[in-house]
Amino acid sequence: MTEGKRVVIIGAGAGGLAAASDLAHAGLNVTVVERAACEGGKMRQIEAGGVLIDAGPTVFTMRWVFEALFENGGRKFSEALDLTPASILARHAWRDGSQLDLHADIAASAEAIGTFAGAQQARAYLQFVAECRDIHDTLKDSFMAAQKPTAPGLVLRVGDLRSMLRTRPFDTYWSMLKQRFADPRLRQLFGRYATYVGSSPFKAPATLMLIAHVEQEGVWMVDGGMRALARALRHLAESSGAKFRFGADAEQILVRGGRVSGVRLRTGEELPADAVVFNGDTAALGDGLLGDGPRQAVDRTPRSQRSLSAVTWCVKTRTRGLPLSYHNVMFGEDYEDEFNAVFKRRTISHRPTVYVCAQDRRDNAQPEGPERLLMLVNAPPDGDRTAASREDDGPMEECVLSHLSACGLTLDGGLGQSVITTPQDFHALFPATGGALYGRANHSSMASFARAGSRAGLEGLYLAGGSVHPGPGVPMATLSGRLAAARLLSDLPNAR
Ligand SMILES: Cc1cc2nc3c(=O)[nH]c(=O)nc-3n(C[C@H](O)[C@H](O)[C@H](O)COP(=O)(O)OP(=O)(O)OC[C@H]3O[C@@H](n4cnc5c(N)ncnc54)[C@H](O)[C@@H]3O)c2cc1C
Repeated sequence: MTEGKRVVIIGAGAGGLAAASDLAHAGLNVTVVERAACEGGKMRQIEAGGVLIDAGPTVFTMRWVFEALFENGGRKFSEALDLTPASILARHAWRDGSQLDLHADIAASAEAIGTFAGAQQARAYLQFVAECRDIHDTLKDSFMAAQKPTAPGLVLRVGDLRSMLRTRPFDTYWSMLKQRFADPRLRQLFGRYATYVGSSPFKAPATLMLIAHVEQEGVWMVDGGMRALARALRHLAESSGAKFRFGADAEQILVRGGRVSGVRLRTGEELPADAVVFNGDTAALGDGLLGDGPRQAVDRTPRSQRSLSAVTWCVKTRTRGLPLSYHNVMFGEDYEDEFNAVFKRRTISHRPTVYVCAQDRRDNAQPEGPERLLMLVNAPPDGDRTAASREDDGPMEECVLSHLSACGLTLDGGLGQSVITTPQDFHALFPATGGALYGRANHSSMASFARAGSRAGLEGLYLAGGSVHPGPGVPMATLSGRLAAARLLSDLPNAR
């Protein structure tokens, strides 16, 4: 049934790469067109100070997702990549000088929290860990790894309403944290998980606690950075026969007789196809960037529902003071105001929480000489509203450096030699998003159901990526690619 069927995949991000692998392995004739010069999408590297620095995702989790994908492709994930488990999940620091490490080992974290905030908070942490695991386990197969359900459909999959309500869809994440943790620093620490899906902990449902469990299951450092993961995913797809064309910008998804018939590249070349998988943000389809044909095939993403954008800096510098781990977070003073700044005032707070990924740290040891850092602050997804201007960069960098120094960290070279990426830059890389990096924000109990599923409302068009069910993050986007492939294959008998 699959023989001779041609599929064009637009985009070689995690979702596109996973779909390419599964579809090629099933025997389809797969071509991936990617406008960038290489695979990976947001898994990209930037050259700064003569070295390559991971400039996108850095926290690698849900290893099982990749093991299953490789297994389906007849390969072993463990042979494709070298991974080192992180013993410290993240190091956290505050302006008052306090510091707390979250460990891979739960008992070690409980002990650290006990010393940091008292025995009662250590017990609250252990209860939180158990609750996060319960929510994760309830939703792993029923929601995350399954085709998009409706809300009532999810209740049926979970099995009963009581188990479903235990996933806390009707409480905000923050209200749950306030009940659990008296120490405001612990609320910040665990609340930050909402930002992993581009959302505010003050608006997101408490269900997002499951992300804490995902990290607790393991965080790994990838030898060669996340680009090495992207390369391994491409090689897996190629080993099953998928073809890749880089520098190939898809201008239009062609429609004939009410169904998808191919893809036209910006060069004018047409690639006929029985099916198309779109791996860009669905906002691009809704805005008509791929032509009028697929415009109605997805719901538009209103600006008010966009997820977080970011400002990032890649820099090679010597550091002093706070000894960095691989993942580090320097918290701002007023967490609620940070999210009000981004989502209400549409600006960046003056003392924003800063994430620092120290990519040369292994076993938490300081490397000799300058080291590679990625730094990130949350930003409003308005990169399409204001023209790119580098005038604001200086004052913003001063705020960030002075905040880092208040938290105990000094960058010897400052940010003068850094490469900055702003929401405008992200908007240019990922059109129609305004720089939103995670599709729609998860800002209500129903938001997860508002994401598109793997089949769009146009015959022959499938969707994969972070803006699609089950959501953003490299492993989730990978799952979405697998779901798109599965849906496409199950539809094939009916394909003309
Ligand atoms: C700064 C940053 C930090 C992050 N941190 C983490 C983290 O620590 N851990 C984590 O798991 N996730 C993280 N994420 C999120 C994660 O990177 C994404 O959710 C995931 O990589 C998205 O994959 P995707 O399948 O949606 O494809 P994308 O990465 O969005 O790639 C889509 C691809 O499609 C291509 N494309 C789009 N339109 C066209 C067209 N018309 N023609 C040709 N090509 C096209 C684009 O060029 C792009 O390469 C982070 C993201 C960013 C930006």
